[in-house]
Amino acid sequence: MRYYTIRHKDVAHVAASSDGKRAYILRAYKTMNVLLLKGHDGTIPPLSEAVELDSPNVEILSPIPHPRQDVICLGINYSDHAKEAASFDKEAFSKERPDPIFFSKRVNYSQGTGDIIPMHEDICDSLDYETELGVVIGKEAYQVKAEDALQYIFGYTIINDVSARNLQTRHKQWYFGKSLDGFTPMGPCIVSSDEFEGIPRQEIRTYVNGELRQSSNTENLITGIPEIIEILSQGMTLSPGTVIATGTPSGVAMGMDPPLFLKDGDEIICEIEGIGRLVNKVSAVV
Ligand code: MG
Repeated sequence: MRYYTIRHKDVAHVAASSDGKRAYILRAYKTMNVLLLKGHDGTIPPLSEAVELDSPNVEILSPIPHPRQDVICLGINYSDHAKEAASFDKEAFSKERPDPIFFSKRVNYSQGTGDIIPMHEDICDSLDYETELGVVIGKEAYQVKAEDALQYIFGYTIINDVSARNLQTRHKQWYFGKSLDGFTPMGPCIVSSDEFEGIPRQEIRTYVNGELRQSSNTENLITGIPEIIEILSQGMTLSPGTVIATGTPSGVAMGMDPPLFLKDGDEIICEIEGIGRLVNKVSAVV
């Protein structure tokens, strides 16, 4: 099942779709956070109102416009990205990392596909994209072993971990440079975990103005999804609605020579096979 947050006739709804075309409004859940807390068995109640997702009367929002907590992120979790990141900032990126790097991302508001990414050009001179597989937790997880971890996952989405590289390096910790307003586009939907056989092994790609910049497969994560959940949950309860951004492969702007940072009007497509496309345009005007 594919879970959406949509705006229909000026009201936001949670909706579910089996084909990504026609969605059924789930009126029992006011927001996706409520659905994630209560759980959903994947069935559509009889007489549910249907909408066509490509209708002009339907706007697809971020599946979780207001995550209940900061998004948990992994840094340098594809080995090819580790190499390119080191070429940009040796001190911050090139140390040996036997254990995963965790950081967090404040999300005042997550925008969906079709929305703009604000440039923040008064403080950011090096705007970058990072396409990532997002894991959405559906069941409280505490001290979970890797072999049991998949049953705590509600589903998967696409996240663009938008980054201001100058702020990310200037302030040592990555928090501020990753957390500006509008830096967490997400979507177009959450695909429930039962749509994948075990751990997702999906092609992951980024296009900027139609040019392929990132291309890898989510099976290339250095620390895999079950291990991420095991490590974090040993000391931190992961509650329903927790979003984990699992890291990005190589091909980001800062890794290019010279770096090709995002400009006003650039279109970024973040694509993961089996989930869809998250499309956003950069804008100097908000
Ligand atoms: Mg990232």
